[in-house]
Amino acid sequence: MDEFELIRQYFTRTLTDSDVRIGIGDDGALLRPAAGRDLITVVDTLVEGVHYPLNMAAADIAWRAVAVNLSDIAAMGARPRWMTLALTLREADPDWLADFSDGLFAAAAEHDVSLVGGDTTRGRQVVVSIQITGDVDPDRVLTRSGAKAGDRIYISGTAGDAAAGLELLRSGTVSSDTANELVDRFRRPNARIALAQAIAPLASAAIDLSDGLYADTLKLLQASGAGGRIAVDALPMSAALRAEFDAQRARQFALGGGDDYELCFTLPAEEEPRLSEIALQQKVRLTRVGIVTDGIGLDCTDNGAPFAYLDAGYRHFDAAEKAWV
Ligand code: ADP
Ligand code: MG
Repeated sequence: MDEFELIRQYFTRTLTDSDVRIGIGDDGALLRPAAGRDLITVVDTLVEGVHYPLNMAAADIAWRAVAVNLSDIAAMGARPRWMTLALTLREADPDWLADFSDGLFAAAAEHDVSLVGGDTTRGRQVVVSIQITGDVDPDRVLTRSGAKAGDRIYISGTAGDAAAGLELLRSGTVSSDTANELVDRFRRPNARIALAQAIAPLASAAIDLSDGLYADTLKLLQASGAGGRIAVDALPMSAALRAEFDAQRARQFALGGGDDYELCFTLPAEEEPRLSEIALQQKVRLTRVGIVTDGIGLDCTDNGAPFAYLDAGYRHFDAAEKAWV
């Protein structure tokens, strides 16, 4: 199978979006933007052995690669529309490719995203790079930089599940239902696209949780030129996380664990009452975890008392980071 046959067989599907003037097959994709909206573009790469374990199913790798990009689109309050895929493979294994493209198109279909182009190469390691283009109402863009002292800090869903799931995968102890639930949070994250658009009119700032609650909240605060406080006793944790790990480790995952792809956002206190209806409509738990201050940095409290927390966070070129390989 040559590269052209591979693209035709696994990545070319009939497009239904009439704004894709030209999709796969020419030198570039030609896309028609919607009038009055700004374009947004994001890209994210998954490297085998660095971002996922070597034995992860191809469909899950593809799903994750799409979901992490969707999450960045969500964090800006935008709508995803088109994606391109740059894929590096050791070999063209038909079973792997069929599974991969199933996961890819399934994740994309959840949000009506069309695959409009890409690049296929051979290499010594699987590398999946996806780029998504979307659009947004220019008056409803969410950024990291708008938080003000006094704003409340909220997160969607529960924190720490994906990192706990990854830990269980690593140690090979996935036997209970709750363990499987946590592993699924790592394997199949769901970007908060609809929720982000619903909170966009109220929120002052937002970021998606990819590196961990503490690390990402700090990034939001730094971008806003503000400080903040998080109440670790208020962190929303799933029943599965509490069933699989003791209280101290669960809290560690919730504060420091990455890969949840939930939304962290801030909003003025007077907008808070409107959140309960949004939570109901979107069928998602929204929890106030802290407050923006006019200081610097991010402090933690436990039932009101200072709580010392040293965040490790994930840093790619940090010598201490261990890869999977
Ligand atoms: P070029 O040589 O002009 O860069 P290619 O031969 O690499 O073009 O690709 C042919 C067509 O297939 C292009 O439209 C490209 O966008 C598309 N394509 C290549 N690889 C992929 C892929 N993995 N997924 C989707 N489309 C792809
Ligand atoms: Mg060309």
